Amino acid sequence: MTIHHLDCGPMRPIWPNTKAVTHCLLVETNDGLLLVDTGFGVADVTRPTRFMRAFTALLRTGRNVEDTALRQLTRLGYDPTDVRHIVLTHLHLDHAGGLPDFPQAQVHIYAAEYEASRRPTHPSTWFYQPGQWAHGPNWVIHHLTGETWYGFDAIDILPGLSPRVLLTPLTGHTRGHCGVAIETGAGDQSAPAGRWLLHYGDGAYPFYNEGRTWRLFSNPPLELDRWFLGDNTGRLKALLQAHGDEITFISAHDPADFEKFTTEETLS
Ligand SMILES: [Zn+2]
Repeated sequence: MTIHHLDCGPMRPIWPNTKAVTHCLLVETNDGLLLVDTGFGVADVTRPTRFMRAFTALLRTGRNVEDTALRQLTRLGYDPTDVRHIVLTHLHLDHAGGLPDFPQAQVHIYAAEYEASRRPTHPSTWFYQPGQWAHGPNWVIHHLTGETWYGFDAIDILPGLSPRVLLTPLTGHTRGHCGVAIETGAGDQSAPAGRWLLHYGDGAYPFYNEGRTWRLFSNPPLELDRWFLGDNTGRLKALLQAHGDEITFISAHDPADFEKFTTEETLS
């Protein structure tokens, strides 16, 4: 199995004055390529909307077409039409921008997130850009099935897929925000700490990197993490404490997580 870690939108925000990444995963599966999140897409870079211009100016992303998932996987020697599956943590503009670049892919999404995008009544929907899915993606809308993963609700996106890929609802940042758990297998160096990667998107601040990055979000008086990222941190802390030897955590935007991986992690 091969998992590539892609930064599809390097950020140097003005405030807080820090650096950040847009961490996407490109996974080789037994059913073609699978992307976890898509970062900014080619259209976001070449024909940005006014909102996209403002957002990327504030975060100073650079809008470089070479950072898009499309260009990065082409440079890695893949054919973009081989992307069969996209799994989204949520539909914010820095996660869903690459959807039009892979129109043939099945786009796996939690039902609550899909519904929120259809009825944008909550402040978290201000960061949806409906133009990113105006082409009509092949949505695969997932509902809870009663399955669980380490005590979290979990949805197996495609039984029989290898590696297994689960959506784990971690709501709050958006109505249907999810983590994505990928079973890498025991001893797989793609997940140095164990047998699962958990890409938890924007579902919590990277509390385990405390002191290294983003102390802003761990400052309790501000309560920013709860207000902005959802109330998932306590449960994720407990998960890491109990099973940190089996699960490698990945935040969508923390550069410290991104740097844990080389650009390519390969094992069969
Ligand atoms: Zn977001």
